[in-house]
Amino acid sequence: MIDPCQQVPGHLRALAPYQPGKPISELQRELGLTSIIKLASNENPLGPSPMALQAISESLPALALYPDGNGHDLKQALCAHFPVTPQQIILGNGSNDVLELVARTFLGPGTSAVYAQHAFAVYPLVTQAVGAQGIEVPAKAFGHDLDAMIAALRPDTRVLFLANPNNPTGTFLPGATLQAALQRIPSQVLVVLDEAYTEYLQPQQRYSSVDWLKSHSNLLISRTFSKAYGLAGLRVGFGMAHAEVIDLLDRVRQPFNVNALALEAAQAALQDHAFLERSCALNRAGLMQLEEGFKRLSLSYIPSVGNFISVRVGDASGVYQALLAQGVIVRPVKAYQMPEYLRVSVGTEAQNRLLLQALDRALHPAS
Ligand SMILES: *Cc1c(COP(=O)(O)O)cnc(C)c1O
Repeated sequence: MIDPCQQVPGHLRALAPYQPGKPISELQRELGLTSIIKLASNENPLGPSPMALQAISESLPALALYPDGNGHDLKQALCAHFPVTPQQIILGNGSNDVLELVARTFLGPGTSAVYAQHAFAVYPLVTQAVGAQGIEVPAKAFGHDLDAMIAALRPDTRVLFLANPNNPTGTFLPGATLQAALQRIPSQVLVVLDEAYTEYLQPQQRYSSVDWLKSHSNLLISRTFSKAYGLAGLRVGFGMAHAEVIDLLDRVRQPFNVNALALEAAQAALQDHAFLERSCALNRAGLMQLEEGFKRLSLSYIPSVGNFISVRVGDASGVYQALLAQGVIVRPVKAYQMPEYLRVSVGTEAQNRLLLQALDRALHPAS
């Protein structure tokens, strides 16, 4: 090993890099296919909000200038949406950035973080990257086992990561259950409630976690513009927490961590209620279409409330390759300890239909 690398601590050299969904352009290069659909990264099949696109084109002439490092206008827009002050908001280069800032601020050697088995891969990654110990708590029916997670908290635990809904399982805990659990978590543990898919919840499933910030100074809620708002490529997300928590995160973050186009687009997307509604309606219909298709193929799946669904195909890597050969990219979730499953993002009606046809051919090559 070359000398500079020799000095790097073992916990960094042991990191397993995050495996993103295969980009369309990569599959094009590899197989020379022209028609490819990607249902691998929970992106919005409707594209970006049209209002966001408009805002981007109007902002292009100002690109020589640095963005507003405080994100004043976007924070104001968020305050009109949620019962928080600007001092309670941190903006991130995707909500991933917020999760990483949490780790860099609250974790380090000699501390630990608790998260669930099958939970979002970024939690163990950011934990390990700062030299903290990750405590993975076995899942219950693929979902978070809150009692076990609370029992796993140690005196050195500083952060508890919770994804609701969770990715890649699509499982969900009702608001009342979460709120009750919050009462039982010691106040020195920062609870990171990752709500990347909350916009997709059905009206009767919705809950207002932001209201809990008033009584829980150890709660941080993270949200993103990458999923229902259709802006994954721009990288913008945010966290809401007590002003003191935000102040610390703000010291650690890069001065211009959110780019100018992302700030403008997010602000516009936040106002685009019609787009959000269309995205949710399409997703609901698509989930039903996929569930029916899986049933026809006699495949079991984990019922999901997100914009994706994990389906049990058996030889997942074989089926994944057979789908790739047909120009359909999905996501293997072996790294999530789900070796027999593939995670499929909900696409348009036509994309879902193509996926189901390709899956049928992959599973029944002779027919
Ligand atoms: C997609 C996703 C995010 C969002 O990531 P961004 O960095 O905002 O694009 C966060 N948490 C979970 C669980 C996700 O699946």
